[in-house]
Amino acid sequence: MHYDLLIVGGGIHGAGIARDAAGRGLQVMLVEQDSLASHTSSASSKLVHGGLRYLEYLHLRLVRESLMEREKLLAIAPHLVRRKRFVLPYRNWLRPAWAVRLGLFLYDRLGRGSTLESSEHIRFASSVYGAPLRPALKSGFAYSDCTVDDSRLVILNAKDAALRGADVRVGHRLVRATRQGSEWRADIHCAATGASHVVNARVLVNAAGPWVAELLDGALGIKSRQPVRLVKGSHIVVNRLYEGEHAYALQHTDRRLVFVIPYLDDYTLIGTTDVPWRGAPGAVTIAPEETEYLCQVVNRNFERQIGPADVVWSFAGIRALQDDGSAKASAVTRDYVLELDAAAGHAPVLSVLGGKITTYRRLAELALEKLAPHLGRMREPWTSTTPLPGGDFAGGDIDAFIAVLRSRWPFLGEFESRRLAAAYGTRSLQLLERVQSRADMGEEFGGGMTRIEVDYLVREEWARSAEDIAWRHSKSGLRATAADLQRLRDYLGE
Ligand SMILES: Cc1cc2nc3c(=O)[nH]c(=O)nc-3n(C[C@H](O)[C@H](O)[C@H](O)COP(=O)(O)OP(=O)(O)OC[C@H]3O[C@@H](n4cnc5c(N)ncnc54)[C@H](O)[C@@H]3O)c2cc1C
Repeated sequence: MHYDLLIVGGGIHGAGIARDAAGRGLQVMLVEQDSLASHTSSASSKLVHGGLRYLEYLHLRLVRESLMEREKLLAIAPHLVRRKRFVLPYRNWLRPAWAVRLGLFLYDRLGRGSTLESSEHIRFASSVYGAPLRPALKSGFAYSDCTVDDSRLVILNAKDAALRGADVRVGHRLVRATRQGSEWRADIHCAATGASHVVNARVLVNAAGPWVAELLDGALGIKSRQPVRLVKGSHIVVNRLYEGEHAYALQHTDRRLVFVIPYLDDYTLIGTTDVPWRGAPGAVTIAPEETEYLCQVVNRNFERQIGPADVVWSFAGIRALQDDGSAKASAVTRDYVLELDAAAGHAPVLSVLGGKITTYRRLAELALEKLAPHLGRMREPWTSTTPLPGGDFAGGDIDAFIAVLRSRWPFLGEFESRRLAAAYGTRSLQLLERVQSRADMGEEFGGGMTRIEVDYLVREEWARSAEDIAWRHSKSGLRATAADLQRLRDYLGE
């Protein structure tokens, strides 16, 4: 097995680089030890945003680039990325009004050319935005950003990479790689069969997320030049807190911003925390004090009070950030670093540190630019305008596409057709190809997930378990009962 590029890690960075490289005609292999998006890339706040908060740290380049990427992702993934209005209640003792006003002015200016609505001042007494808030909050600001289905963004990048010839292997772990002159010789272990494979590649990409330093130091035997800082962030999901599609960005006494975002019709997503992390990067969960903290932020701002008993789901993830020596975890830069280790005559390895879901596409472009001298001829950059699988509906108009689904399959309800359009875009036509009646969709496994969809996810999107299907390929797990999930496990033969 011989490749131009061996990419380690099936999160957003690995999948994004695989897609870009495969589309430029390179021979690509992507290995993911678990499932696609099974770690940090499914545990984000699900925002495609400039990062208003980064303005305070004067990270203007990052904000500008992120705002440019926001516009591009809206165009190439209109099924996954949605415009959203954010309301920021004003708290004088945390940040003076002029500072917030100036920040938002800059945010609008840095995103110039954007199709999103600009920011404005709001008096809560005369606005629906004030309705769920405590009476002490009299005014604030509204600004625009986007939300995204983070795990599906990863999966559809990997899908497109595979459609363009990449060899995508889930449940495959890179155990060790050694340089043999100008090539890498890598040992890959397959969890399902227990077999080991040897893969040769000209270039290795270390997109192992929280394992980035461990992979370099351990499996590759290279000392990293960049210190890495692991920071854990957690979210809670509660039943819908308020009416309306707008989100809130709440300032807390520690000067952090906590987002409160309407989630999947019936729920509200609240997060994140920023906690230094020193343990192993594997499965992480929210700590009780993080839940308390998030409830407290909500309770200081909303009339409706919540507590740990209201939490219907929670998740946590770990960022591997470039350690810039900041005292607080929340202050460490979210910008990315592409560290290239490429001594003359030695096969190169490029490691990805930091980064955001928002900037993954540009990061992939820059990664290939950096690797170009080692890869030889490849096609020009192409990902800024080419839709991701399913994102090719006319004018990016998802409502028009939902109407098409409903007219062709009238027995699909409003919720189901919207869910399918948002998850698969035009690929839902392929998913529903042979369906003429509801009975053709087969058994239901909760949350609207039916047998034909499960079959599709296994066949087309590397889904291997009920966990993959319920929490990464979809979020049917939020609505499914324990019995539904057990039937799904039985159906998959787990
Ligand atoms: C709490 C939180 C909130 C965030 N919110 C946002 C947000 O709203 N918007 C935004 O733009 N960004 C956000 N981010 C940042 C964003 O989520 C991350 O930058 C991004 O997901 C990192 O992706 P990754 O591909 O580098 O890592 P990961 O998604 O962790 O992927 C790395 C993969 O490598 C695999 N791997 C590791 N070692 C091996 C090996 N030896 N062999 C094979 N596979 C291996 C792992 O299994 C893993 O799946 C947030 C991050 C956190 C933690």
